[in-house]
Amino acid sequence: MTLNGIHHISAVTGDARGNLDFYTRVLGLRLVKKTVNQDDPTAYHLFYADEHGSPGADLTFFEYPGAPRGRAGDGMVHRIVWRVGTSDALEFWTSRLRNERIEARWEDGGLRFDDPEGLAHELRVSTVDDAPLVAVHSAIPIEFALQGFDGVRAYASDPDRSRRFLDEAVGFRADGTARFEARGATRGATYTYDRAPGMGRAGAGTVHHVAWSSTMDEHDAWRERVIRAGGHATPVIDRFYFRSIYFREPSGILFEIATAGPGFTVDEPLAHLGESLSLPPTFEPLRPELERTLTPLPNPRAPSPSAR
Ligand code: ZN
Repeated sequence: MTLNGIHHISAVTGDARGNLDFYTRVLGLRLVKKTVNQDDPTAYHLFYADEHGSPGADLTFFEYPGAPRGRAGDGMVHRIVWRVGTSDALEFWTSRLRNERIEARWEDGGLRFDDPEGLAHELRVSTVDDAPLVAVHSAIPIEFALQGFDGVRAYASDPDRSRRFLDEAVGFRADGTARFEARGATRGATYTYDRAPGMGRAGAGTVHHVAWSSTMDEHDAWRERVIRAGGHATPVIDRFYFRSIYFREPSGILFEIATAGPGFTVDEPLAHLGESLSLPPTFEPLRPELERTLTPLPNPRAPSPSAR
């Protein structure tokens, strides 16, 4: 039993409009679901991904309007690493980000930049043959588009504490001293530790959790395996678009294991993903109130008035 890399990564924003602009217009991802945080339905939960809303390319944000910026520290994911196809793509992104007045710099073979709230990203040329997970964007040639997650980097004060758990509970393969890989039949992703700079603070621009991808059939077995390895896994929670369990790995990073399906087309057609507020049936009674209180967001794929 192996996990198929990262399913999704969830982070916090204090500014849904700026967040939507950055991830759809600048980075070229597709808004594939506009829904609410199922643990606090007064907050948005926005999902950006490839064209099909695939696990492996799905970055999500909870919006707490005006939330102060956080800072990544011990026990937190601090950087999201994406794949691109070629070094030409890195050149393309260097100039595209600079044109957007976003500071981008080459570092250790990758291109580093932060989102408007300080969340760290890195683009790296893919070294694996996993299917590229790409979204369509009029200003980004398809060969330069982001292709899904390569991995995440996390801060830990003593990564050795996690070594056995990562092997026994989630089947990560150790690769060097502080780098691990979760690789299954269809995809893989890396999980790398860096020395913690000190304690962090949750808030806008920080990652809340990273979810790893399980098949539908193996999900219950993963929960049993995590518990056998000493993890405190939650019961299976039905998130409507997928099923989930949550637990902290020994270095303090919050993990989720989520099922690859049923996916984002359970309540709206593929062609119209993300265009309207989607509410799982249990939250439907809250719709009138939520439509009044949630930050109004434009449809990033609406035809521009000048194009008509
Ligand atoms: Zn999640």
